[in-house]
Amino acid sequence: MESYSPFDKHLLAQFKTGLRNQQRELQRVVEEVGKQVRGFAESGPLDVVDTSCDHFAKESLVARSSQSRNQLRLVELALERIQNSNFGTCVACGDSIGLKRLQAIPWTSHCIQCQERVEHSELEGSASLPQPIAGLMMSFRG
Ligand SMILES: [Zn+2]
Repeated sequence: MESYSPFDKHLLAQFKTGLRNQQRELQRVVEEVGKQVRGFAESGPLDVVDTSCDHFAKESLVARSSQSRNQLRLVELALERIQNSNFGTCVACGDSIGLKRLQAIPWTSHCIQCQERVEHSELEGSASLPQPIAGLMMSFRG
């Protein structure tokens, strides 16, 4: 049995080239941001006024670092799917993802319906976050 792919070789080659370029770029960003985070860690204690600002800068660097890592992982998985001839197939329901969606987000692994479900469940997962802040405000009032 031949493995079925909804895309012809030329189109797959285009996606592959695009994803490879993105992979290289992300690897560069991950490395660069990683260096900056380590630089912050080694800079030691600063005076009190600078610390909150510095802390914020570090937080956003760490966020950027993990974002780039996640993105890199997605791109690598997409390249694997091209390798395994299941690129363009939703990993959750097995439906075809659709060319337009793939051209907009080549590293996507889910069709639009499944993506919405995934995002919805992620939002539910983080819904407990504001509670400690509410507790803090209560203690200020008393
Ligand atoms: Zn799906």
